[in-house]
Amino acid sequence: MKSLNVSLLGATGSIGGSTLDIIERFPQKFKLVAACAKQNINKLAEIANKYRVPLLGISEASLAKELAAKLDYKAEVLGGEEGILACATAGAADLVVGALVGIAGLKSTLAAICADKKLALANKESLVAGGHLVEKTLKEHPKAAIIPVDSEHSAIFQCLKSGAHNEIKRLLLTASGGPFRGLKGADLARVTPEMALKHPNWNMGAKVTIDSATMMNKALEVIEAYWLFKVPPEQISVLIQPKSIVHSMVEFVDGQVVAQMGPPDMRLPISYALFYPERAPLNTTKEPPLLDFAHLAPVEFFGLDMAPFPSVDLAKEALKMGHSAPIALNGADEVAVPAFLRGEIPFTAIYDVVEKVLLAHKVTEPADYEEVLAIDGESRAKAKELIARH
Ligand code: MG
Repeated sequence: MKSLNVSLLGATGSIGGSTLDIIERFPQKFKLVAACAKQNINKLAEIANKYRVPLLGISEASLAKELAAKLDYKAEVLGGEEGILACATAGAADLVVGALVGIAGLKSTLAAICADKKLALANKESLVAGGHLVEKTLKEHPKAAIIPVDSEHSAIFQCLKSGAHNEIKRLLLTASGGPFRGLKGADLARVTPEMALKHPNWNMGAKVTIDSATMMNKALEVIEAYWLFKVPPEQISVLIQPKSIVHSMVEFVDGQVVAQMGPPDMRLPISYALFYPERAPLNTTKEPPLLDFAHLAPVEFFGLDMAPFPSVDLAKEALKMGHSAPIALNGADEVAVPAFLRGEIPFTAIYDVVEKVLLAHKVTEPADYEEVLAIDGESRAKAKELIARH
């Protein structure tokens, strides 16, 4: 087994934790050579001390000294953007895991590609806000590659091994439908943050959990799928599969459909990305659980009811508008979700805010990360203005 040096961006988050779970199972295979986080120095120090990580980055620059003081060995600790980018481009790393949350992840994604890294990408915003830039940068750095970590995209990536790109008829992204499937109008408007934070199948961070309740998560995934697989939006469909057993499917031109199944456990798509192009025998241990087909709840599919959950339509609209439009969609959602969690707007107003920001957006072609960030900032400001008026 060839060993692999890993740099983990976003080590203290949910995806970071699942990645460390895989790394821990295969100490001969993986060596953690760099890790960074936004601000959780206690957790990052704990990880660093356990794995003896030689390079550490912390977004919140003022915390770098405190982080260094918590280490019981000698490491290079860099604060601010410099620290994150040093981890993204670490010379020792064979594989970079991009698990930062939010638009800041785009800069490290571009940096990792420029450094010719193999990138296991979980940061949605990289593709949602920076799809054009990522595509252009990948063309300039053919040695770099992106392997999707998101469960749906990992599923499609695996299904696509069954046919050529020109044989794809449709990508079928599955969604659990979130906890509020079937709710409408006034009932949906009355949903509280506590209700929305309880996801039936997946255990994730707060922003993703709310995004999955509004279906905005699926909307962002449609945009992500567009950039990863270069399939036009009208050939990307969303289907509800409440138990999250079928993670996505590809329909080919001959009418045959290939699906990928597995227990709803993020460690599976993460391990696929870490080991790619190989597969590791994760299931020889007790966890993660195997699918027990004989006792499985029925695997049912439903169409997506767009009327109460318009996120996916908004995403396709943003893709049609092109260039900077998905940045506006994403920026508005990033402001609307915390506003909902703080009780400032009702659940259904998340859609109103996103739609209004998107429709008011003037499409431009951002040339670099800074321009993406500026458009993101404008969209957030617009969203805040709408929320204040609410
Ligand atoms: Mg997903």
